[in-house]
Amino acid sequence: MKLSYCPYSLEFKHPFGLAYGTRTKTDVVFIKLESDGFVGYGESSLPPYLGESHESVIAFLNKAKPFLEKQDLSSGHGNLTIEIHKLAENNNAAKAGLDIALHDLYSKSQDKKVWEYLGFEKPVAKNTSVTISIGDLNLIPQKIEEVNDFHILKVKLGSESDKEIIETIRKYSDKPLVVDANQGWKEKNFALEMINWLSDKNVLFVEQPLPKENLDDMAWVTERSPLPTIADESVKVLSDAERVVGAFSGINLKLMKCTGLHEAKRIIDFCKAKKLKLNVGCMTESSCAISAAAQLTAYADWVDLDGPTLVKNNPFSGIEYKNGKVELSDLPGLGVLPNSELQFS
Ligand code: MG
Repeated sequence: MKLSYCPYSLEFKHPFGLAYGTRTKTDVVFIKLESDGFVGYGESSLPPYLGESHESVIAFLNKAKPFLEKQDLSSGHGNLTIEIHKLAENNNAAKAGLDIALHDLYSKSQDKKVWEYLGFEKPVAKNTSVTISIGDLNLIPQKIEEVNDFHILKVKLGSESDKEIIETIRKYSDKPLVVDANQGWKEKNFALEMINWLSDKNVLFVEQPLPKENLDDMAWVTERSPLPTIADESVKVLSDAERVVGAFSGINLKLMKCTGLHEAKRIIDFCKAKKLKLNVGCMTESSCAISAAAQLTAYADWVDLDGPTLVKNNPFSGIEYKNGKVELSDLPGLGVLPNSELQFS
């Protein structure tokens, strides 16, 4: 099995405002795995707050390389996924990138789509929310206009001007909103007050109102909240999901947090058993990693897979956004292809 990779930066169409700062790009590493005449692609997306970087992903891949070179398709997909996890602690996005590439490779070797190969329910093209980046409030009408095709808007709150932002959006759009506070409301009474204020403004759910470790306060808020509360920063992997039962109404599942499709399905099964709501979300990702996440849409209460729509240099083709829905291509595997600009080495 031959492993190669390509560090890259996805550049935002608009600077991306969050409760903890503004960004203009997200670094990613694209991964290529070749074996027995088949090629699989993967992607690790690296928002700085998760602590991974081009350097850390490349270091992890260089550790995986000598191991993978000794393997071929007969090694078995499940074995390889497990062995890769043993190479190092953490490195969740790096592991996710390899997990995605392995799924793409093995599915293609059987001429199946990834969801078919894994025995998942057939993906459903659902409305995805799309993030309106908040900077200059005067640009809000233009930004709403730009995403006219989409039926659910997502807004990042957690700043001084939260109510002003919502009121401005509501002057120009009555579409359902998803609110992400990104841990920006520091105190439980304030968080509940904000959720109550949002509750008659056609908001579907509120993501990560409080700092990620405040689970007791979060349980207090959720018990009183008129809107579903969704854990994002509080939950990366299955063991985190087990800790937040009772503290949140549901989970925002992201492949980059959870190490890939293998762990994602375990979290999905757990959510189903515990009656937790499920949002399938993403980091800033190209069509490559988004196609992997879109394999899971049958299980989602909500879908937030807008990554490629926010960037101006998506180097993979495959998925399409039609009338606000994410649609997978008809090709086997993930169904994506890189453009010729990507140089893997
Ligand atoms: Mg979030």
